[in-house]
Amino acid sequence: MKHGIAQDGLTSTTCIGLFLAAPSIPVPIVRAGLYLARSLGFFWLARRLTRRGLRIICYHGFAVAEEYKYRSTLFVRGEFFRKRVEYLKRKGYPILALQDALAALAVDRLPPCATVITMDDGWRGVYTVGLPIIRELNIPVTVYVTTYYVENRIPVYTVTVSYLFWRAAAQRVDLPRGIGAFDLRHEAEIAEEVVQKFGAELPPAERLEFLRELAKALDVSFDEIEGEQLFRVMDEQQLRGLAAAGIDIQLHSHRHNWPLYDQKMVESEIDENRRFLQRIVSRPLQHFCYPSGVYGPHQAEWLARLGVKSATTIDPGLNYIDTSPFALRRLVDGGPVSDIEFAAEMTGFMELVRSLRRWLSARRTQRAGAGMNSSGPGQPSLPCGKGGA
Ligand SMILES: [Zn+2]
Repeated sequence: MKHGIAQDGLTSTTCIGLFLAAPSIPVPIVRAGLYLARSLGFFWLARRLTRRGLRIICYHGFAVAEEYKYRSTLFVRGEFFRKRVEYLKRKGYPILALQDALAALAVDRLPPCATVITMDDGWRGVYTVGLPIIRELNIPVTVYVTTYYVENRIPVYTVTVSYLFWRAAAQRVDLPRGIGAFDLRHEAEIAEEVVQKFGAELPPAERLEFLRELAKALDVSFDEIEGEQLFRVMDEQQLRGLAAAGIDIQLHSHRHNWPLYDQKMVESEIDENRRFLQRIVSRPLQHFCYPSGVYGPHQAEWLARLGVKSATTIDPGLNYIDTSPFALRRLVDGGPVSDIEFAAEMTGFMELVRSLRRWLSARRTQRAGAGMNSSGPGQPSLPCGKGGA
């Protein structure tokens, strides 16, 4: 499901499924297979074969307390990130600034295995935890910032609600304001849905008050959440500090809201986002990240008209000279991604596995099509070339 920030807030992305060869294979078996592939030299070979592909890594926030236990992709620990960057440096992956990498990609002049690091949303931990590490390791980073919660200083509603339900120890809850009573052993999902919908209609100050009431109903300390400043995005001053430190700040829509077919809404999301960030950032704002990775190919033209030069997705994969700059693929990293899975992605091994799977699937489709064609009169046939490589 994809949601807008004003209604539903920032949506986390789960990455593990993107990294695995097949979701039905148990993770330990996949990992064992990856270790075997590496020991047989397939990682080395994959890196050579895919060296011209641009790797764009996607992070989100940094844990400021123990919220990584709740969503370890949305909030990575500082040490986790440091280890990753040290790995990239040790293994000789050149880390480039986004605009430099895209300029080089357009003329096919990238250094081998060029890598870009991006971070989505503009979570507060990027400033308080991430920035000192980024400075120390001296790497270029692009942060895509969504601005609704920079303007309205409350914790991100949807993520906070979801966290409160995750923390709740009670078996039953009477939701505040008489919006329902639920048995959390069987109806937690429905209860959360009701709360998300209810809050979407509230103005920001009311929403904060409602979060307090909800925390009380679920017997979770809201003071603790506020004390640790959990689920907050950066404020204007922190964004200024980030920009002053040389971090590239770019567009991510104002409300984290990105309808597929409403061009006017898309324009206003970019306009509001850009107008807000222009007060903070002096560099051109021309790179964009689709909220929750939702996009359609028809939107490339809309974005180009708005002065946007590139847009990143969460489609897994590497980027080559023929990749649309409005559908750039990324590798989503975070807590659930083990070191061997990260290495498999960075070397391009997983990219080759995905290509092989696509090819096998296309062959199966073609065979099925041929089978249907020869199965007798009156049988519908698949359109010519459908699913072809
Ligand atoms: Zn986002």
